[in-house]
Amino acid sequence: MSRVIEILIQEAKCRGCRRCEVACAWQDRPPFNPRRAGVRVIKDEQAGLDQPVLNMECLERFCGKQAPGAGSPLEPACVTACLFGALQLVLPEGNES
Ligand code: SF4
Ligand code: SF4
Repeated sequence: MSRVIEILIQEAKCRGCRRCEVACAWQDRPPFNPRRAGVRVIKDEQAGLDQPVLNMECLERFCGKQAPGAGSPLEPACVTACLFGALQLVLPEGNES
């Protein structure tokens, strides 16, 4: 089964809460370190903006990390953790499992 997915980033909806970083890092081996997550939230203090940035492979393939409450078996933990819709899962046609 193809594990191809797409994560849509809508930075205008990002609140800078960093739940995505925590959810990703929580799945890794100890020590827990959100700075090593596959997603980083870049803050522009002057503009008052937050920009989530994901690793390239995260944007194209399911990483295998899942959090409770995932809306799909292919939904990564960072997407599930984002309560504001800044990260959204897009499943290619025929891969809606
Ligand atoms: S796609 Fe997976 S590895 Fe990448 S940031 Fe999200 S949870 Fe982490
Ligand atoms: S969880 Fe969503 S709203 Fe919060 S920092 Fe990450 S992308 Fe932004």
